[in-house]
Amino acid sequence: MTTDIDVRVCEVGLRDGIQGIDQFFPTDKKKAWIRSEAAAGVPEIEVCSFVPPSVSGQFVDCEEVIEDALTLEGLEVSALVPNLRGAQRGFATGVHKLSFVLSISESHNQANVRCSREDSLEQFRQIAELRNSTPENKKVTLGVGLATALGCTIEGQIDPGEIVRIAERVLELGADELSVSDTVGYANPTQVRDVYRLLRRHLGDDVLLSAHFHDTRGLGLANVHAALEEGVRQFDASLAGLGGCPFAPGASGNIVMDDLVFMLEAMGLNTGVDIDALVAVREIVAAGLPEEPLLGAIAKAGVPKGFIPAAA
Ligand code: ZN
Repeated sequence: MTTDIDVRVCEVGLRDGIQGIDQFFPTDKKKAWIRSEAAAGVPEIEVCSFVPPSVSGQFVDCEEVIEDALTLEGLEVSALVPNLRGAQRGFATGVHKLSFVLSISESHNQANVRCSREDSLEQFRQIAELRNSTPENKKVTLGVGLATALGCTIEGQIDPGEIVRIAERVLELGADELSVSDTVGYANPTQVRDVYRLLRRHLGDDVLLSAHFHDTRGLGLANVHAALEEGVRQFDASLAGLGGCPFAPGASGNIVMDDLVFMLEAMGLNTGVDIDALVAVREIVAAGLPEEPLLGAIAKAGVPKGFIPAAA
């Protein structure tokens, strides 16, 4: 189902979406969310974050959630790791992909993972070494999320040269793909275009660059369009726009997965996702988090009359 897709979408609601929510999302409902969204055709789901329970109580069930997700055929199962300890737990589960998070902003990195960027780079070096240590680990894709690449609530504007510098370092150390992350929703489409062009110029055409946008200031899908025009074909989003960062004050939800899929499909870009089946998954989220507001225009308005999905 995912072989002939034009644009790959990755669900991050089970990680980014719930990490800052106090109410525990029940494990059985997490599994149901993953199963239903995979059945709707979403090719990749970031199912948890290997942070200690002191950082977020949402992820005490990582191992159990991953074990269940790995039984779903065709789904790429990924997890976020903030450090070597998290990666050790991640490798032990047999997860397909680990996404290491590192902030371009020094202050945000200190707040988010409580160490300097240099220390984070050293952790990532050790993670890459661990990945290369056994045939089992070698199968695991290593992504790096370049957080606050497009703006930071502590430092404000970010020097694009710093994105290039850190990107080059993590690629040298063994990263397979990079996600340019607008953690706090500061970016605009012109900035997005310029940053991807700059990265392409320095990193070449072969490096897989994905995009992780938040809709904090309403420019999320405009930024997706700008990234599409620069050749980006992989986007994070969260169902119903859940999300935020506990250490980035004011950061609200990720771009809405349902609206993203609608936009891409309406533009003739096949995502492999069935919109009606996707929208139906919102009921599981609503049942698991009854107090959280669910965002999204398509769930409210429905697709336009005469709408034809890209694959049709
Ligand atoms: Zn995020």
